[in-house]
Amino acid sequence: MVSAIRRWIVDQLMFGEFASYRDVCRKSVWVAFKVAMVAYGLNLCAHFLLYGFDLLPYRLGLALIIATVLTPPITFIVSVTAYIAVGFAIHELGVSRAEFEKLSRTDMLTGLANRRAFLDQFDHCGQDKAMLVIDIDRFKTVNDTYGHTAGDEVIVKVGHMLADVFPDRCLCARIGGEEFAVFCWGMSFAEFAALGEVARRRIAGMQIEANDGGFSVTVSGGLVRALPEEQFGDVFFRADKALYAAKTDGRNQIVLCHETGEDRGSKTELKRKVA
Ligand code: GH3
Ligand code: MG
Ligand code: MG
Repeated sequence: MVSAIRRWIVDQLMFGEFASYRDVCRKSVWVAFKVAMVAYGLNLCAHFLLYGFDLLPYRLGLALIIATVLTPPITFIVSVTAYIAVGFAIHELGVSRAEFEKLSRTDMLTGLANRRAFLDQFDHCGQDKAMLVIDIDRFKTVNDTYGHTAGDEVIVKVGHMLADVFPDRCLCARIGGEEFAVFCWGMSFAEFAALGEVARRRIAGMQIEANDGGFSVTVSGGLVRALPEEQFGDVFFRADKALYAAKTDGRNQIVLCHETGEDRGSKTELKRKVA
């Protein structure tokens, strides 16, 4: 009984029956009505029982009138008040829980998913998928030259550009300081790679306002198709290797990692697939 009530409360925290104040009120009226009817029934039974044993200290007719006039409304008012008070509290807890859950999975600067959300969703997605890891080139110099606020603005703009280029069947996340990741599902690898190139070019073409005019940034990326049953860690490892290859090969490019799971990036293959 206790565990059933506990389970019910936890279910309601996930917005079972208390998704809105209106739902709480509607449900409260219905439950209070049922409680009032049960209380009224029990009251009548008790009176008939006492009457049957000749223990009723007053007339049955009068007793039934009083029971009918008092029991349903009083029980209804008490029940509806208690249910609404508890229901509102559960609803508010449910709202805070959902907000907290959302915050814990969102990157505050860009509004994209954070690493935790990305990792969870990647591992739970059973479809064919691919991952692109992107890192802003020479970002430390941006901070040193234009200041940390301008650096933050660059991160936000890059994040928004990624969300713009990869709208459907993709999840974009900021997984570190100036590092982003995108994974796609139900999309051909060639299409995903082409979108990666679009994102890289569009980011390179962005103008960021600064005191002395404006500046632009470039990004490097590592692209990999996930093997069946491969988890986030393994796919990320290979994408990161490809990213490293892109960095050492001059930056402002996306390198494809071999699908065989080799840990060496291959720019040649990328050119063949993307260009
Ligand atoms: P590379 O091309 O090899 O990636 O060089 P890099 O300068 O981008 O890489 P490095 O790892 O040396 O520097 C990353 C910098 O990003 C250092 C750190 O201060 C900065 N950074 C990390 N998170 C944030 C952030 O949230 N805002 C800002 N403005 N800077 C950040
Ligand atoms: Mg960088
Ligand atoms: Mg980095």
